[in-house]
Amino acid sequence: MLYDLHTHTNCSDGSLAPDELLSLAAEGGVDVLAITDHDTAEAHLRPSLPALSGMEIITGIEWSTSWRGVGVHVLGLNVDVRHPAVRDGVAQQQAARVRRAETIAVRLEKAGAGDLLDAVVARSNGRVSRPHFAQELVERGVVKDVKTAFRRYLGAGKPGDVKQFWAPMADVCAWVRDAGGIAVLAHPDKYRLTRTRLKALVADFIACGGRGMEVVCGSQDPGVTARLGRLAVDSGLLASCGSDFHHPSQPWSRPGRFASLPSDTTPVWTAW
Ligand code: AMP
Ligand code: MN
Ligand code: MN
Ligand code: MN
Repeated sequence: MLYDLHTHTNCSDGSLAPDELLSLAAEGGVDVLAITDHDTAEAHLRPSLPALSGMEIITGIEWSTSWRGVGVHVLGLNVDVRHPAVRDGVAQQQAARVRRAETIAVRLEKAGAGDLLDAVVARSNGRVSRPHFAQELVERGVVKDVKTAFRRYLGAGKPGDVKQFWAPMADVCAWVRDAGGIAVLAHPDKYRLTRTRLKALVADFIACGGRGMEVVCGSQDPGVTARLGRLAVDSGLLASCGSDFHHPSQPWSRPGRFASLPSDTTPVWTAW
């Protein structure tokens, strides 16, 4: 069975509609797919979704939070997306996204990138995120590509890296638990933390009720997978895996295409 428990649609910053994602995942041999858009369960609330495919769909949301000044993502898997905790959490985070976008726009204008807000909001379909800023910067010729936009303006430590609006990790984990789901620390390797800080993050995450961590995320170095597998086992966390798929134009990230979990880890799906 192939599980891909981390994917995005155009309900957040991906480019495929949910049904298009399902087709691509089926092509990739995925048996069980979690759609995990950023701070929204919109894809799961569309009535036609499960009927479109023979594959099993797991409800999910990738929540934005911050921990000691680092932007951290928490996957809520197998949540009841109609639960009031999720509904209220989504509303709170979406309001935070709008205020955050205003702050990002002010900061980027001060950094000389121009007045971006209206154009970015217009291209974002109501769920504004940093990739929308990046796309606008590329279109205006301010930077040559999205990667450069993040390196200069939007990535960690840059003017557009704004985290103070997100809900605390404890709140996010509580929403997931209240809605019957499992909170999984997303892509722990992407935060560029020292070993000591990563262990501190994991300890705080567990104290907040976190139960799993992503051991495999997209195409990742085998050494990283081994290290994260050990950390999951040593911390008593369930192990998750996913592509973090966003765009078909990125050939290195396809639904279902990533390494297997290390054999000594306990897969997260054994717990639902
Ligand atoms: P936001 O939800 O507004 O914080 O935007 C975060 C999203 O930006 C992530 O989920 C990725 O899809 C994307 N992203 C983050 N870093 C980069 C990067 N260096 N290059 C391209 N996309 C990125
Ligand atoms: Mn994203
Ligand atoms: Mn993420
Ligand atoms: Mn993601």
